Amino acid sequence: MTIDLPVVPLGQPTTQAELQALVNSTPGISLLIDLEGTIVCANIKSTLHFGIAHDELIGRNVYSLFDEATSIGRRAIVRQAELTRAPVFLEDERNGHFYRHSLVPAIDADGVVRRVAVFAEDITERKTAELALRASEEQFRFLAENTADTVWQLDHRMCFTYVNGSYVHLSGFPLEEIIGRPVMEFFTAEGRATVAAMMTKRQQSEAAGKTNAALRFEVPHLRKHGNPFWAEINSKPIYDATGGIVAFNGIMRDIDERKQYEKKLEEANRLLEGQLREIVELQTRLKDQTVRDPLTGLHNRRYMEETLPREMARAKREAYPLALIMVDLDHFKRINDTYGHATGDAVLKAMASILLNGAREGDIICRYGGEEFLVVLPNMSTEQAMARASAWQVTLRQSPVQHGTFLVASTLSAGIATYPGNSSDIETLLRLADDALYRAKANGRDRVEFEPPSSQSPQLPD
Ligand code: GH3
Ligand code: MG
Ligand code: MG
Repeated sequence: MTIDLPVVPLGQPTTQAELQALVNSTPGISLLIDLEGTIVCANIKSTLHFGIAHDELIGRNVYSLFDEATSIGRRAIVRQAELTRAPVFLEDERNGHFYRHSLVPAIDADGVVRRVAVFAEDITERKTAELALRASEEQFRFLAENTADTVWQLDHRMCFTYVNGSYVHLSGFPLEEIIGRPVMEFFTAEGRATVAAMMTKRQQSEAAGKTNAALRFEVPHLRKHGNPFWAEINSKPIYDATGGIVAFNGIMRDIDERKQYEKKLEEANRLLEGQLREIVELQTRLKDQTVRDPLTGLHNRRYMEETLPREMARAKREAYPLALIMVDLDHFKRINDTYGHATGDAVLKAMASILLNGAREGDIICRYGGEEFLVVLPNMSTEQAMARASAWQVTLRQSPVQHGTFLVASTLSAGIATYPGNSSDIETLLRLADDALYRAKANGRDRVEFEPPSSQSPQLPD
């Protein structure tokens, strides 16, 4: 660039005082020298810089203030300004300081250059900052280009300003299709929603006075060719002095493999949960089977043996009576022998449903042996138990089982013993109920007998 210097019109000479005021107003070292280097005018800053009083500085040769090598350089640029008749600008370094020099030739009215204005400014601070910035930029580039991770930079509009080779490799997009494009174009729809949510979160935390908040999130990215891939992003905004976002820096890591494993693990877990549920159900069913009779579906003797002590304990604790009814089918062997085992089974099932019918919650009904049933009735007196057993007796008699064209009717005998009237001991109660049943058989079957209360037996409190 060439600058046309103004030609000062004649008749308006600048006074020495005006010139001095002008040079004093400049921030750097300002001198006016003739072509030999004699200082004609010097500002305050230059007297401070050289440590020489103003009076002594005027008339002194400027080159005497420098060493030989510097002098040669300075002479050359003064000569350049004189010959080119145009300003010369340059930067150099001396004693660890950086200077910016401006040399402007003064062209007299006759067109001759006789003097040169020299302005020198110490730019060490700015230069150091520039160099540090360049060094850190180089360091960043070095790290970015040599890391396995993906590194990127966005401008304030979230458009790519930089990506390292890893991103190009990962996404399959060539660099020229990335730089300048909005980052949002590189996510799947799901990813865009995630990022939008993250931006809102950041804005909220900024509104709450938290800046410089690094965000970490996982986002599915588009690939130029092929399936999207998952990446974990660590992103940090860069703020200007006023707190506005000027750019975003980010590091990204491919977590596709981990995501695939996570998905497989989730599926495996779901499968396992399903299997576990099945196992639990099976266990419950199995456990139930161990306490149930498969033919009638009633509880079995084992269940009764486990439950009866609990029922007795509760009856004692809560002071209510407990009735035991032992039921046995009459001449059952004959039914089997006459109509066959299957018909016998049908009678057993019919008996079971009669017992279940009208049972209260809390009644325990079990198949105690082959054609023998034990019914435990909490909170039931001997009289009530008698009525129940008699009802079963009537119902069974009226419920014949079909065998071909025959109707097979059966009868039952039952024996009753009750807590507390007969005994408070389970073994004894069972034996007494069995004794009563035996008496029913002995007295002709199709009967209900009960053990009369003994006078020694404990009585329930009123
Ligand atoms: P009582 O009137 O004295 O009780 O005579 P009963 O024939 O009923 O008694 P007994 O004990 O002589 O015979 C019981 C029969 O019950 C013998 C056995 O084969 C039969 N039985 C036991 N379990 C089953 C079963 O699950 N199904 C069938 N159909 N019969 C069974
Ligand atoms: Mg029998
Ligand atoms: Mg029997």
